[in-house]
Amino acid sequence: MSYVKTRGMVVREVKVGDYDKILTVVTEDLGKISVSARGVRRSGNRYSAGTQIFSYCDWVLYRGKNTYILNSCEIINSFYEIRQDMTMLTYAAHMLQLFHDTTYENQPAKDRLTVLIYALKNLLQDNRTPSLITRVFALKTVQLMGFVPFLSGCCLCGTREIDDIYFSFDRCGFVCEKCNTGLKNVIQVKAGTAKALIYVLCAEPRKAFGFELSPDVLKNFTEIVDRYVDDRLEKKYSKMNFFQEVQENSR
Ligand SMILES: [Zn+2]
Repeated sequence: MSYVKTRGMVVREVKVGDYDKILTVVTEDLGKISVSARGVRRSGNRYSAGTQIFSYCDWVLYRGKNTYILNSCEIINSFYEIRQDMTMLTYAAHMLQLFHDTTYENQPAKDRLTVLIYALKNLLQDNRTPSLITRVFALKTVQLMGFVPFLSGCCLCGTREIDDIYFSFDRCGFVCEKCNTGLKNVIQVKAGTAKALIYVLCAEPRKAFGFELSPDVLKNFTEIVDRYVDDRLEKKYSKMNFFQEVQENSR
């Protein structure tokens, strides 16, 4: 029997029978796959930790008829602490949902996994703002999917000398105060937001999450990223509403 070795994260788990699970794993080189994990819910099973949601592992699998079958897995990072904190879990679950929805079978996902790993690591650091990390993750995700907004000047007239920057959701980029006249689906961009958007798109994944924003800039940044990402992915992320509630409740 031929084995397949790959590295990836569990993004979904479904219990089957008394002791088994079917996992959805997003892997570096096979893309999103199903893995049948037999016996992993028996107490003391050596692979029970590695076969849980958020577990990032090196996998040894073999090909079954319709799914891959678990031979063994070795944990690189279980991100176990995320499950200990309701707020963190809510944001992480949202990122995982977005990740799950935008990864596919046979589509290698190494870069996408790297962004998710850094997002989760940053989420676990002290004194970080989960709502910011989630938006940086979302923006980096759509960037890797090929949706890059035009931010190096006005996307209509090309000028780089802009006094008041606007973001056009129809044109997917910055517009200057002159071109903004009469446009619909436009939002004013604060200077701090413009800097943050450009920084995230230019930075490598390891550095993209390394900043914080003042509350009013964060609000503006969030509004632009949420709408841009929803438009590109043609989906309203329902958990967004849920974590607005989490924020409001924690105030
Ligand atoms: Zn212009």
